Amino acid sequence: MDKVESFKCRILTWDEIAKWTEAVAYDIADNGFRPTVVIGLTRGGWVPARVICDHLQVKRLYAVKTEHWGVTASTDGKALLTQELNASIAGESVLIVDDITDTGESLILAEQHLKTMGPKEVRTATLLHITHSKKEPDYYEVEVPDEDWTWFIFPWNLHEDLRTILPKTLYEPKTVTGIQKGFKDQFQIDVPEELLRRTLRHLAATGKVHKKGAKWYKA
Ligand code: ADP
Repeated sequence: MDKVESFKCRILTWDEIAKWTEAVAYDIADNGFRPTVVIGLTRGGWVPARVICDHLQVKRLYAVKTEHWGVTASTDGKALLTQELNASIAGESVLIVDDITDTGESLILAEQHLKTMGPKEVRTATLLHITHSKKEPDYYEVEVPDEDWTWFIFPWNLHEDLRTILPKTLYEPKTVTGIQKGFKDQFQIDVPEELLRRTLRHLAATGKVHKKGAKWYKA
């Protein structure tokens, strides 16, 4: 039998994201920082970066992509910069935005890269900050102590995360109700049945799970 994997997750709502993004933007404005360019770290920082542009009246939004080797909830492996900036930021006040600092490596890498491009200033913002991160962003809304480490399921990543997590509940064949209980017991989240069935359909279509009788099996 497979090892039973378990870690704490939390499903975030769009309302929480809107509230935190607004709070970060107001904090930046109150602090007197006026970014002329916003850089979203894709993919996680993309939505908050766009919303921060709206609050702070910034028209120039660009993307830099960092990727981590590993899967959901794995913090080992190195972060890589896979998409450099292809715009000039010489003399600009730059704000880098990401969703969360966990290892902090993505933000450190992006900041190092952008600082080589002659900006006047570079500052960083995230919605959440886990205190073990190697980098503390200049602005963030929610501080998460190390001991409360959680895998946050962002609304823009909901289906992808559920597709990653669901097979971890199938260390033994289960019914839909059993899978739902697995989400609760192993990951502390309540997943509505409709959503769970949709995730199963996606996974079945790509051959990652299959059904026999009333039970679902991992491929
Ligand atoms: P960082 O460099 O910001 O610590 P990582 O390089 O470990 O983050 O991971 C990069 C991306 O992975 C983050 O921007 C975020 O989208 C996602 N991520 C990392 N840790 C978490 C977490 N605890 N919950 C949800 N998403 C996470």
